[in-house]
Amino acid sequence: MDRSWMNESRMSPAYEEGIKEFLQFAFERSRSDEDRKYYCPCINCLNGRRLILDDIPEDLLCDGIKKNYTTWIWHGELIDMSQSEPFDVEMGDRLEDMIRDLG
Ligand SMILES: [Zn+2]
Repeated sequence: MDRSWMNESRMSPAYEEGIKEFLQFAFERSRSDEDRKYYCPCINCLNGRRLILDDIPEDLLCDGIKKNYTTWIWHGELIDMSQSEPFDVEMGDRLEDMIRDLG
């Protein structure tokens, strides 16, 4: 999904469209028995506060969305493990460094 709108100006139509897309996304993935409150990804709430759907656009327009929140894990999106680096690569590097330091 194209999320370049998250880096657009908050005044731009793309940003406004993006917010709608986000709300739709959150809404579709929520369970119907939930209280219809969603984590707000604005730079003030940082997904730490839950708001009703109607209040989220205001936050996102006034404060802006957390820009590095491109995988919406707090809103039902699964992390794509195939795209992340395997952990042992980094560990291996660190080990190599340690050995070099010792030497
Ligand atoms: Zn907020």
